[in-house]
Amino acid sequence: RQKLYQELRDRPTETRDGVPVDLMMNAGLAVDLPQLAQSGAAGIGLFRTELQFMVAAAFPRVEAQERLYREVLEAADGKPVTFRTIDIGGDKVLPYFKGAQHEENPALGWRAIRLTLDRPGLLRTQIRALLKAAGGRELRMMLPMVTEVSEVRQARDIIDREVRHLSRFGYLLPTRLKLGAMIEVPALLWQLEELMQAVDFVSVGSNDLFQFVTATDRGNTRIAERFDPLSVPFLRILRQIVRAGDQYGTPVTLCGELAGRPISAMALLGVGFRSISMAPAAIGPVKAMLCELPLSDLSVVMEEALANHSASTDIRALLRDFANKHS
Ligand code: PEP
Ligand code: MG
Repeated sequence: RQKLYQELRDRPTETRDGVPVDLMMNAGLAVDLPQLAQSGAAGIGLFRTELQFMVAAAFPRVEAQERLYREVLEAADGKPVTFRTIDIGGDKVLPYFKGAQHEENPALGWRAIRLTLDRPGLLRTQIRALLKAAGGRELRMMLPMVTEVSEVRQARDIIDREVRHLSRFGYLLPTRLKLGAMIEVPALLWQLEELMQAVDFVSVGSNDLFQFVTATDRGNTRIAERFDPLSVPFLRILRQIVRAGDQYGTPVTLCGELAGRPISAMALLGVGFRSISMAPAAIGPVKAMLCELPLSDLSVVMEEALANHSASTDIRALLRDFANKHS
């Protein structure tokens, strides 16, 4: 299999019926970077910047952040990289961060963009490091756990202020700046219109979105298997996001664990995703599936399944049948 994946690496990433798809990888530390070439990923769809903070003994200084981001961009060598601003709080605690209190429900608590908008010094420092590291290149940033579009606007204000600050001091700025939001909180599903117009791209964080949609703790093994993301309600939600992106011309991608399993990646393509981001080791198996996939046939099957919902619709079984029939 390993040999097959290596051969596949240099083949174009497109379905059997010729639809191109971007397979991106998730990363978070400098040690992940060699995987970019090894996996054949089209870029880094999710760079989890909080990992640098989690392995450090104190807040990484702006210079250390800048150094890491520059290293990432150099390793990517022109391939797109999406940096997610720090997603700390919740289950990602920094022992040296004194502002955090005990929380009954950390997943629903003071985390990610909520925390960094309340501590704008943290966000400003990170944005400065990103802007400097990406001087002369494109910079893509995305915000985790957005709940209201106004949070995007607040973050954009902070970015704009940093851009003005750096340009006043004569720094080389990014050639282009793209700001995206992660769709992880269900409230965004009723603000898709405003959201799609307020950002340059969106990325579905399916781990958190599924957790919140089904009210099921993503870390609780007791209930981990109870509800299936490959189900009518969740796939309808994902399809709705893709459609809203199409309507407003806003690129949509997905970077949760769902993207990394061939069967669920198939479902994602079936509801319209053309870009997904996953652990580097998943790219070979997903690409092997994709190259054999008659996507337009699958899309029809998915449309029917999502339209005729009955309690007995088993999407996972349907996908498995489809895969067996066409392999
Ligand atoms: C997600 O929630 O799907 C996601 C990609 O972010 P994380 O797993 O880091 O919370
Ligand atoms: Mg998340």
